[in-house]
Amino acid sequence: MKLTILGSSSATPYLDRHPSSQLLTVNDHIYLIDCGEGTLFRLNGFGVKKNKIKAIFISHLHGDHYYGLIGLLTTMSMHEKTDELTIICPPGLKDIIDLQCKISKTIIRFPIRFIETSMVHQTIFLDANIHVKTIPLIHKIDTCGFIFHKLFPKRKIRKDKIEEHGLSPLEIADLVKNNTIVKDNQIISLDTISEENTSKKSFAYCTDTRFDDSYINYLYEVDLLYHESTFLQKDLTRAIETKHSTAAEAAHVALKANAKKLLIGHFSARYLDLQPLLSEASAIFSNTDLAIEGLTFEF
Ligand SMILES: [Zn+2]
Repeated sequence: MKLTILGSSSATPYLDRHPSSQLLTVNDHIYLIDCGEGTLFRLNGFGVKKNKIKAIFISHLHGDHYYGLIGLLTTMSMHEKTDELTIICPPGLKDIIDLQCKISKTIIRFPIRFIETSMVHQTIFLDANIHVKTIPLIHKIDTCGFIFHKLFPKRKIRKDKIEEHGLSPLEIADLVKNNTIVKDNQIISLDTISEENTSKKSFAYCTDTRFDDSYINYLYEVDLLYHESTFLQKDLTRAIETKHSTAAEAAHVALKANAKKLLIGHFSARYLDLQPLLSEASAIFSNTDLAIEGLTFEF
């Protein structure tokens, strides 16, 4: 899995920082998470083929998380996208898009399947690569985070068995397809050269939210956790007022969830220098990084 940060500013674009948007790549399939203003420019900048986006996940309907969507959709349409796009979003987004298209007499020439989130922890999306569940968060309006689980084949081929039988890549492919092959007058079955695949990989996206214990159990042992840290702990009053979290609180979530790595973002424009946010979080949870735009994290 690979995560590219397209934007990690809160509320408004500021200096070189853009509002929330991330690109998750799983087995060369790409998924967009939030689509703040400027996302289209960021996608162009990173050379992403927009029409290859499989699904778009929108956490909530504050503008810094979806104001870039109508521009992206109409551009996809102009680029002759024809296959269906899935948009996972809170109720209301379809009405907004429909109204924007109606007033501007715009036709989006590909089908969009809207899947509406609700404030419960449930499976919201499943394809051949990922299984995604919602994480109800605590914000001023209904907001859901997402946890993405990579899907693996049920069986994993054992290296020692390949060597023991001297299997070529072609023979392995044949075995996976047909379950058995005959080699040197011997029947070799897939079960005897493979073992149960217990591989796990997950990524959780938690923004915007007030820090709370209620969602931590959904994040248990996540490989990469993106958690908003709009403020420093010295501005906790503001974080409580605006229903956001501090860097220290994000680190506490990572610690309690036993996450492997923490990424912090959704930075308030009041902080020109982001290092104090990193220092605050790292003091509690050492494996922390800033979600700086343009960075890609492989995990
Ligand atoms: Zn926001």
